[in-house]
Amino acid sequence: MSILIFFLCVPLSSQSQNVENSPQELLEQARSIRQNDLEKSVAIAKQALVSAEISQEPLIVAQCHELLGDIFWEKGNKSAALYHLTQAESQYATQGQKERQVIVAAEISDLLADLKRLDDSISHSKNILPLALEIGEQFMIARLLTSVGDGYYKKKSYELAIKQYEQAKTYLLDKDKRTIRALAQTYKRIAQTYKRLKNRELTAQYYRQSLDTYTIIEDKRNMARTLNTLSEAQRHLGNLVLALDYSLQGLKMHDLIDDPLGRAKLNANISIIYRQIGRHELSLKHILEAHEYYSSVNDILGIAKSSNQIGLLYTRLKKFEQARFFFEKTIDLPNDKLDSDTLAIALREMAVIYLSQVNYDKAMSSAKRAKSIYQQNGNQNKESLATRILGNIYREMDNIEEARNSYRDALALAVKVNNENYQSKALISLSETLVGNDDEEAIILLNQSLTLSEKINDKSQMLYSYRALRMAEKNLGNHFQALKYAEQELRLLAIIEKEKDELELINAKAVLHSHKIEAELEILREENKIDKYRLAKQNAEIAIANQNRKISDLELTKNRYAAITLGLLLFMSLVIAVLIYRRFIASKKLNEKLDALATKDPLTDCYNRRALFDSLDEDFKDLTEQDNYCVVLADIDHFKAVNDKYGHGIGDAVICGVAKVLQKCVKGKGEVARYGGEEFCILLPGMTINQAKEVAEKMRQRIENSTFKKVNVTSSFGISSINFNPKTPKGLINQADFALYKSKSMGRNKVTVWDKSLQNENTN
Ligand code: GH3
Ligand code: MG
Ligand code: MG
Repeated sequence: MSILIFFLCVPLSSQSQNVENSPQELLEQARSIRQNDLEKSVAIAKQALVSAEISQEPLIVAQCHELLGDIFWEKGNKSAALYHLTQAESQYATQGQKERQVIVAAEISDLLADLKRLDDSISHSKNILPLALEIGEQFMIARLLTSVGDGYYKKKSYELAIKQYEQAKTYLLDKDKRTIRALAQTYKRIAQTYKRLKNRELTAQYYRQSLDTYTIIEDKRNMARTLNTLSEAQRHLGNLVLALDYSLQGLKMHDLIDDPLGRAKLNANISIIYRQIGRHELSLKHILEAHEYYSSVNDILGIAKSSNQIGLLYTRLKKFEQARFFFEKTIDLPNDKLDSDTLAIALREMAVIYLSQVNYDKAMSSAKRAKSIYQQNGNQNKESLATRILGNIYREMDNIEEARNSYRDALALAVKVNNENYQSKALISLSETLVGNDDEEAIILLNQSLTLSEKINDKSQMLYSYRALRMAEKNLGNHFQALKYAEQELRLLAIIEKEKDELELINAKAVLHSHKIEAELEILREENKIDKYRLAKQNAEIAIANQNRKISDLELTKNRYAAITLGLLLFMSLVIAVLIYRRFIASKKLNEKLDALATKDPLTDCYNRRALFDSLDEDFKDLTEQDNYCVVLADIDHFKAVNDKYGHGIGDAVICGVAKVLQKCVKGKGEVARYGGEEFCILLPGMTINQAKEVAEKMRQRIENSTFKKVNVTSSFGISSINFNPKTPKGLINQADFALYKSKSMGRNKVTVWDKSLQNENTN
């Protein structure tokens, strides 16, 4: 009988279950199955809502709306979510449930931001703020202020955003983990906002605060990520040593956590630092690691960005085929998943590579594609850049008319977006095509570019302007004016060189530091090895003990035991000696590499400027006016025309060839240093002026009679001697420079020795 009742009841109770349950119970059910079955949860919550409305339980009605709002948002149905949450908020308000009202209001505000209704989002948070202040729940107040800040951030009203975040910070004083994490996030938001405002100092400062705050709660994942952003910020500030330090800490942190995306980003950042300081091979190693990760998870944007960076590196290493491979990889990625700016970068760089390979057709089509992408995106800034590249291509193709048109277009675009840097560059390129044809117009434009480049304090653009102005004035026969510009050039060159030296110093320091960091990483690895080695030693000891027992068991002689121990000791010493020797060899190689890096010019293998001045300073200390010591400055004539006609690749080969001739002529008698682009400085210790003149004459003739990659060039020379009593090494070189200038003005392919009248001629 009881079984019968049971069978009758089962279908009955399962059918009437929802009808009989109270709204409260239904709501609980809906909540409990939300994790597993969204659809069913919605259906039950709706039933709960209807029955709560019938039985007039407004609080349950509000809770049902809140739950439905949350679920619809999770499902991506934002308009339904907004409807339910708004209902919930007003129900809670009429019920006097202030805390719930504030929580739901904050959610609505986030949802509105998600719907890109930023103004509504901001005002929603602002309106509820007084109530939150009345309740006094600090965390909630901070959350509302942050959400207003986020709204302003998205509206690009960065100053206002920072104000809100700063205010939010003052409510995050509790010492519980949740509050500390929110505080760290707020610091991060402030840092990001300052980044948008291009205030790099404050960006770094707030990232540092964020890091310190994450450190308190030992949130390793966020610590590692913040170390990376902090490193990026310091890199932008030019503090490369600090940037490397942070990234090393980040790398160490990554050994403790599992965050491959964070690790990939860190590697990409380290790669950029290494690229900046010229450690290209290492830079490549790190970016390849990032690239591998992005490829493994098929993150298209990551693949594209890392490919571009690899391409840039190979370009720097002059491995154009490899560079091409990686840029093409970006170009071939599915276009719909790629942000078009990243694609345009690859196209732009490809255009430059094709141009250097004298493949005009492809250079042209790549540049045009990049230009049209920028045009479509309304990015007139970058469109100006791409148009200028197009101009360069036409110029190399000797299509001066089209080159000018492109430069004029590039100029117009730069004017539109008020980019003074690009304006000045376009003006200079345009003027360079006018010099020799329409020198008057060139002079007008160059004066504009000069004003602009002075305004933005871009010294190399000022220099280019002066150079072109000098040539234009010379063409018009205004020699006095030309000379004035030449002097400005010299003055500016000295400043640029000084700044370059300072920058080189910063880079050199960073290079040294990077060696230290690698050594540290190496030591970490060695320590691991040493631990293993200790273990092996202990195992060996155990083995010895066992052996010992066996020996005594077998009653072998003491002598034999001693021999084994001695043998083992000898073996251990050998292992340690090998370890020490390996470390010694590694550091020796490192030092040799560093020395070479510090003194040689990579293109020509001549000494670089720094080595030149080091050596000159050293010699100068011991010299008197009675000693014999000469310097020769050599400058290839009309070299720009070589570049223009044959391209930079051939230009480089010519520079190398000339360097070889110079080196041969002074072998054993002096040193050749690369003084500038196509300028060399030759030190001739112990030589009289006449001997130096003979050497220079020999150089001049050999260069004139040589052919470099089917190109013929001549060079001009200027000589000075310690006998002329210069005050400083720089003074000695300046004298040679005046003499060189004289050789140039006398028609080039000449050797001139400095004398006093020359200087007067120039300075009068
Ligand atoms: P001048 O006879 O008056 O010296 O004429 P020039 O054309 O040689 O004039 P200038 O010295 O002003 O120009 C030198 C050019 O050398 C400018 C620059 O484009 C080029 N150049 C500088 N460094 C390099 C380099 O490393 N490689 C190549 N290919 N060209 C370079
Ligand atoms: Mg030259
Ligand atoms: Mg020159």
